[in-house]
Amino acid sequence: MRVAVVSDIHANLAALDAVLDALAPYDEVWQLGDIVGYGPQPDEVVARLREIGATGVRGNHDAAAIGALSTEAFNDDARAAIEWTADHITDETRAWLTGLETVVTAGEFTLVHGSPRDPVWEYMVSGSVARSNLSHFETPWCLVGHTHIAVAFRQAGSRVEAISPSERGPLKLDERRAIINPGSVGQPRDGDPRAGGMLLDTELNTVEWHRVGYPVEVVQGLMEERGLPARLIERLAFGW
Ligand code: ZN
Repeated sequence: MRVAVVSDIHANLAALDAVLDALAPYDEVWQLGDIVGYGPQPDEVVARLREIGATGVRGNHDAAAIGALSTEAFNDDARAAIEWTADHITDETRAWLTGLETVVTAGEFTLVHGSPRDPVWEYMVSGSVARSNLSHFETPWCLVGHTHIAVAFRQAGSRVEAISPSERGPLKLDERRAIINPGSVGQPRDGDPRAGGMLLDTELNTVEWHRVGYPVEVVQGLMEERGLPARLIERLAFGW
C-alpha cells in the first residue's frame, strides 16, 4: 500500500493540494496534526481531508483552536492565528477536529503529532529525545510532526542516529526502530519554501520525502485579506 503522509498543513490548502498531487497515486492519506492554525483556509483543508478519508491525529494548534488547550504557551502570532481560527471555523469543522485522537495506530506505525511520550507538545528534535521515546510506542515505527523538519531517527546500537532526507532516493526501513517526520506541508522551516510530504510504501517498507512548489503569493494574499499577522505571511516566502 502507498500512503501519503502529511503533517503541519496549517490551513494552507494550496500547499496541501500540491503535495497530494506530487505524492499520487496513493491508497491512503495519514496526517500528523496541526491541520489548522497560521494559515487562511481551515475549513477548506478539513473538508479536503474528510473528502479523501485521511486518518490521523490532532496537534497543539488544533487542540487550541477548539478550546481543548490553553493558548498561553503559544507566541503572540501563533495565538492571534489560533484566535482567528477559533472565531471563523464552522461548527462542522470544530466537531471534526474535536473527534480526532492524539495517538492512532495504523498498520506497523504509531501516529502522533509531537512524540509518543507527549503526543501534543514534545518536540522530537534530537536523537536523544528520540531514544527516550522508544519505550513509549509498541509498533516498530512511529510517525511524528510538530517540528516542521523532515528527518528520520533510527536506532543504531545503543544510540539513535538522525538521517536527513536524501536526494539519493527512498530510505529503507528495517528491523531497527525508527521515528520519522515527513516535514511540514503548510509552513516549512528549513529555509526551503516548498511544501513537504512523504510517501510511505508499506510493502517495500520505504519512505521517500518530497518537496513541491505551490503558489505562495496566493496564500499570502488570502492571509492578508483575513488580517493574519504580517510575520506569518512573510515567513512563507522564506520557508522559515
Ligand atoms: Zn505545526
